[in-house]
Amino acid sequence: MKHNPLSRRQFMAATTVAGVSVAGSARAISSPPLRIASSPAAGKPAILGGTPVRSESFPPWPVIAEIDEKNFLDSLRKKEWCRLYGSTTTRFEEKWAALLGARYATGVVNGTNALYAALNALEVGPGDEVILPSYTFVATVNAVVQQFALPVFLDTDIQTLQMDAQKLDSVITGNTRCILPVHLGGNVADMDAIKKVSTDRGIPVVEDACQAHFAEWRGRRVGALGDIGCFSFQASKILPCGEGGAIVTNREDLLNRFHAFQNNGRDRLTGTRYGYQYQGSNLRMTEFQAALLLAQLTRFEEQSQKREANARYLTELLSGIAGVQPAKMYEGCTRNTYYIFMARYDSGQFAGLTRAKFLQALQREGIPCGAGNYHLNEEPFLEKTLNSRAYRQIYSEDRLKRNREMNRCPVNKRLSEEGLFFSQTCLLGSKSDVGQIVEAISRIQKFAPEIGAT
Ligand SMILES: *Cc1c(COP(=O)(O)O)cnc(C)c1O
Repeated sequence: MKHNPLSRRQFMAATTVAGVSVAGSARAISSPPLRIASSPAAGKPAILGGTPVRSESFPPWPVIAEIDEKNFLDSLRKKEWCRLYGSTTTRFEEKWAALLGARYATGVVNGTNALYAALNALEVGPGDEVILPSYTFVATVNAVVQQFALPVFLDTDIQTLQMDAQKLDSVITGNTRCILPVHLGGNVADMDAIKKVSTDRGIPVVEDACQAHFAEWRGRRVGALGDIGCFSFQASKILPCGEGGAIVTNREDLLNRFHAFQNNGRDRLTGTRYGYQYQGSNLRMTEFQAALLLAQLTRFEEQSQKREANARYLTELLSGIAGVQPAKMYEGCTRNTYYIFMARYDSGQFAGLTRAKFLQALQREGIPCGAGNYHLNEEPFLEKTLNSRAYRQIYSEDRLKRNREMNRCPVNKRLSEEGLFFSQTCLLGSKSDVGQIVEAISRIQKFAPEIGAT
């Protein structure tokens, strides 16, 4: 993708140093007085031959300590590898539900399959439409087309980078089966507006909370606000176990369905193997995943509080720089847990320097930053899906044509050219680390015409 100087994987790799760090180890948290760039001493940008603002990488991710090793080895040695022969996954599920203030949680292999199982539990299928944001990770839409439903992309709110819930009413049809908001970057979608439409129209909500562990809307944790919530514990996420996911609900009828679905259709309570009542797959979380998650949970709060404090500080410092605008939060968002620090770039404030060139210059200063999401609604595989044999059997020409027409998201298209994504690890260091991000940006701004000419 020529618009993305760093692909998502490269971005993650650039911000995650392979290796092991020990939680609570004495990584010095010194905060020398900040010298932010404005001083004339601020040197030449690295891309023009100057010395980079940073030479060290940001803190490595994930973090492990003795408890992670102990939990993992316990499962290994007891030969409790599969949840059918152990109780660690069940323990994690109980804890996860309690922490979210939800009645039920089920662990699964990953976030993608959590979404898949959630839509299956709601009987989303051929002929149905699912409303989702156009600005998200591709897994959200893959879960929809896996069910042979039609994705209906909602345009983006350029201020918050979340789905523009004010436009929900305009895309609902008689076939809308589910609203699938994403809480992008640890920030929270407008749940008041989404819940109102859901209640008024009787349409269930599945929250894709894969990036928003413990983020809150009006004091309540996301993932437990809709009919079903889905989480990812993939290695880059703020609660990681390599690969992992969870499905959360307050509704027992839905729990029965998705719990059976992840376990080859076996009944949740009886484990019955004959006389299956439910269709199923095997998406079972392993005991190793659950063991690691229980360990990772012990340090989540401490890490998150640091991230949140650093994010507030970064927001404050960036208010002094025209042209890098942090994503705003809705008034109802009472906690943003910052899987990504999202911002928008205005090249007009950088002498016309393209975002690609800006990102390159930032990289050279030792600050990893990605270009964010793209216009998912225009990804080539979607057109191929609509043209596939299955879709042509299910949907009329006319219906597919209307779907294509609905899926135009002009605001998102603009945002795709402006996004800046700083990974959460940029927020796990000291205040002076955060200061360096801004120092690098203002250096680039100062020399923008020269950089543009290279
Ligand atoms: C990570 C992610 C997923 C998928 O989770 P995996 O565990 O990687 O399968 C889905 N949706 C969003 C928004 C994500 O960020």
